[in-house]
Amino acid sequence: MHGLIDPSTSSKISRALLVEVKELAKQFQRKFQRIPAFMEVCGSHTMSLARTGVKKALQDDIRLISGPGCPVCVTDQATIDAMISLTDGDDRIICTFGDMMRVPGSYGTLMQAKAEGKDIRVVYSPVDAVRIAEQNPQKEVIFLGIGFETTIPTIAAALKEAEEKGVYNFSIWMTSKLTAPILRHLLNNKEVALDGFLLPGHVSIVMGRKHWEFLADEYHLPGVISGFEAVDVLNGIRRLLMLALEQKALVLNEYRSVVPEEGNKHANFWMDHYFTLSDEPWRGIGIIPQSGMDIREEYRPFNAKEKFSVPMRSPRKTKCRCGEVIRGLIDPPECVLFGKACTPMNPIGPCMVSSEGSCAAYYQYMREE
Ligand code: SF4
Repeated sequence: MHGLIDPSTSSKISRALLVEVKELAKQFQRKFQRIPAFMEVCGSHTMSLARTGVKKALQDDIRLISGPGCPVCVTDQATIDAMISLTDGDDRIICTFGDMMRVPGSYGTLMQAKAEGKDIRVVYSPVDAVRIAEQNPQKEVIFLGIGFETTIPTIAAALKEAEEKGVYNFSIWMTSKLTAPILRHLLNNKEVALDGFLLPGHVSIVMGRKHWEFLADEYHLPGVISGFEAVDVLNGIRRLLMLALEQKALVLNEYRSVVPEEGNKHANFWMDHYFTLSDEPWRGIGIIPQSGMDIREEYRPFNAKEKFSVPMRSPRKTKCRCGEVIRGLIDPPECVLFGKACTPMNPIGPCMVSSEGSCAAYYQYMREE
């Protein structure tokens, strides 16, 4: 046994769980003559599995595949280029989450644009961008709306505040994404064989356990919603193995303290109030119908895509294989640039920049020296 679990208060439980998980994985292997394969679809799980040593400790027993769970990583190159091009106009303030600053576009980064004098600000909440717009009425303030179901309600809260206060110099460049459509896409395309999903705790807080029942009903696969500590992810994997061994397609909630059955009704109401389903481009995949949310027609004045035209150029081609990483087709070290031309200090693709990216997780915690 190597790698080993973080020395948190639950380390004893984690060690016992690790032994149990390894035993269950052996049973699976004996029964099906192969090792089980599970996908996590949350960037925080990707980081947690790497940071706690769980992924390394189980690497010979279970294939733990990182899926499309990092919102920056799944954003396609043309969209990133468009968002960087947005900085070109006069009298604009661009507001974004910090991860976006270093994401390489084809022709530079937001960080470089800021160094060249563009007004680009890191915010911790979309509502902060509304405040900046109020303080700068002579400027156009554009928030870059990247995120999954965890972030979309916070963007809705910003839109609500801007609407109520009449802050019309505030707008949003939406490129948010939804998790269920990408899972359906991966399963329909059968590019990667899976025995179940470790389901995202944070998205499930908003969407609820029932949201994932299609995995069991339509694809006959189990899923387990889990928290983020070593003990949580190990327990989630343990439950997945038990279901897979018995070939039971069920969706279990192992994060019951915060994840409800039906989701957060309030958050879902405001999401639906301001946004509508939209076709979204995904890195390495292309457009998936109805896989994102965009601003409803009646709130057009807050839609940055309607307000500002941005020249769409063909993205510059690189050897970055983030598109395959997020689909679970390769592990980061299979990219020739990993750890050489591409490092956290000098990232070539978003999977190495983001604090939730698979390549960054691998580089920080799983790299063989
Ligand atoms: Fe892209 Fe770097 Fe990851 Fe390779 S290692 S896939 S270049 S982010």
